[in-house]
Amino acid sequence: MSGEDRPPADQVEHARLQKALRESLILRELADILNSSFDLEHILQELVKRTTELCEVTRCAVWLLEETWNRFRPVTYYVASPSLREEMLKTADAIWYHSPLPPDNPVIQQLLSAGGMLYLEDLRTEPTVATFAETFQVHSVLLIALIREGRPVGMMSLDEPGQPYTFSQDQQQLARAIAQQATIAIDNARLYQQAQAQKRRAEQLIERARAIYQVAMTVNSGEELPAVLRLATSHLVRGLGAEDGRAMLLEPGETTLRPIHPADYQASVDSSSLTFSLERLPHFRHAIATGKPILITSNQAKAEEIEWFRLFNLKNILLVPLLGSTPEQEANWDLPGESKDISEEGGTLPAVYCPGLIAIHYTRRREPTRGEYAFAQDIAAQCALAIEKARLLADTRRIADVAIERANMLDEFLAVTAHEFRNPLTVILARSQSALRALRRANRAEHAETSYAQVEEHLELIAAQSKQLNNIVTTFLDAARLNQGQFTLKTEIVDLGQIARQVVANQASLADHHTLRCQLNEVQAPYLVHGDQARLAQIIANLVENAIKYSPLGGPVTVMLHKRQKGDQAETIEVRVSDKGVGIPPEAQARLFERFYRVPNVASGEIRGVGLGLYIVAHLVRLHGGEIRVESSGLPGEGSCFIFTLPALALSAENKQPGAGAAHHTDQIT
Ligand code: ADP
Repeated sequence: MSGEDRPPADQVEHARLQKALRESLILRELADILNSSFDLEHILQELVKRTTELCEVTRCAVWLLEETWNRFRPVTYYVASPSLREEMLKTADAIWYHSPLPPDNPVIQQLLSAGGMLYLEDLRTEPTVATFAETFQVHSVLLIALIREGRPVGMMSLDEPGQPYTFSQDQQQLARAIAQQATIAIDNARLYQQAQAQKRRAEQLIERARAIYQVAMTVNSGEELPAVLRLATSHLVRGLGAEDGRAMLLEPGETTLRPIHPADYQASVDSSSLTFSLERLPHFRHAIATGKPILITSNQAKAEEIEWFRLFNLKNILLVPLLGSTPEQEANWDLPGESKDISEEGGTLPAVYCPGLIAIHYTRRREPTRGEYAFAQDIAAQCALAIEKARLLADTRRIADVAIERANMLDEFLAVTAHEFRNPLTVILARSQSALRALRRANRAEHAETSYAQVEEHLELIAAQSKQLNNIVTTFLDAARLNQGQFTLKTEIVDLGQIARQVVANQASLADHHTLRCQLNEVQAPYLVHGDQARLAQIIANLVENAIKYSPLGGPVTVMLHKRQKGDQAETIEVRVSDKGVGIPPEAQARLFERFYRVPNVASGEIRGVGLGLYIVAHLVRLHGGEIRVESSGLPGEGSCFIFTLPALALSAENKQPGAGAAHHTDQIT
């Protein structure tokens, strides 16, 4: 070959420069492509494909060093020859992605110590990667480390599958330059992704803080408990990426959970059975006992929980006890992935009272992160606060109601007393002054006889009014003693029939417009009971007095006695006191035996009374082991009938007296 044939030196130089220029253009273009995206997967796919083109090799693959630094993970490869690619895909594709290399692998170590590029003539001779080389038909290989600021990010490999191959200087240089560009793009994409993840985390934190704030605000605004728990549940479901949730309450000292939103359940369960016993829900019991959230799958469900899962078609639930926890408690939780075996007992209930829990439902099993647990706890603490507030409020309301009722009662008492005392007192005052005047006249011997007669008349009226006052005071004292439980009966065996007769006889002497009757069944007599003679008389007398009082137009007043026996129950004596008076409207009957209650109708408004008589009567009947009720249509003229029953004294056969002739005996007194 002559010297003429050789290209002149400047021509060589020119070609070299042109090539360098071309390469730098190619690299710039590649850099543009790689840097145009932050999508790591896309970058790597472009990288392996372009590298095979630019370096004119059949295969290029990339491994990345995982952020935890413990392995080089195969991420992408490209095979330029379509036929080969298909074959590769068939045999090795799946396992390739699962063939990571440890960073201390000798080949990788060799690569890093060789300055980041290593040419191996036959990879199959390297013992630690021989199987790998065999499986993926790697023969000669060019390895290039991806190094950013002195630390490895990953590695790239170029080869001709199944063949020995020698990489030219140019190929090696180009590959190294490509790797440099790729490292920058990969690192940028990773940084970008990290920043994105951080941003997402920050957004999540803000969203959680906002949710907690919103629930706290709702608690403070005094919103009703169901609304607060509804909001809290929906935040929990959203914040924990779950499907739905249910809140349940646990009353102090109770062992049954009661749903707070029963309407949510009605489609699947009948609302009367909507309480769940903790005895039969061991995981629920455990969550409440430990005060920390617990995740259970339908497989882990025990006892009644299985039924619970089935009923609501649940897959996995996170039980969040509604209890504030301290940071130390949270630090001690063995999270995540906790799936302890819970015994059927599920732990004893804690000294710290947990007022309820929220069950969060996931269709896919998903262990919440520590952050999510903390979020759940914060929401739970707010819920616990809301429940406590609601209970305090309810207590306060109850106390206020009692206080108001007492105050009303006192008002009523004062009104009644003032009214009832004033009338007799006015009479007494006026009459005593008149009596005094008449007495002075008599003393001055002016019409002495008439004056004395007047004095007597005045004094009689004064005595009658004083007696009435005395009755009222006795009534008040009786009511007060009954109310304070300081009432004792002097019991003995007494004949209720005789008592009734006596009372009717006494009352008849006072009644002008009424016909009083006492009807006894002589065959059934005597009507023996264990009781306090005076108090039994008081009961009947009061009922008869009322019968007279509340039938102002007169008419019959009847007292009837019967013995009754129902099935094999003990025998009772029934006393009925009936009249044909103003009657008692049905709506007033329920309150009739309350203190100070007077039926708000015209008739009773015109008739004087303090509304304590029936209260005392009912108390006395109950003290005797009996019952009292009223029957009335409420229509004036149809009257009322008060019926009380007492247990009859059981008599032995020989004590029974024979029937005294007349089957039915009536005392009629007008
Ligand atoms: P009072 O002192 O007002 O009579 P009671 O306790 O004896 O108090 O009775 C309560 C109310 O029940 C009365 O105010 C009256 O309205 C009603 N009542 C009681 N007995 C009768 C009756 N026989 N007929 C109609 N109303 C009655």
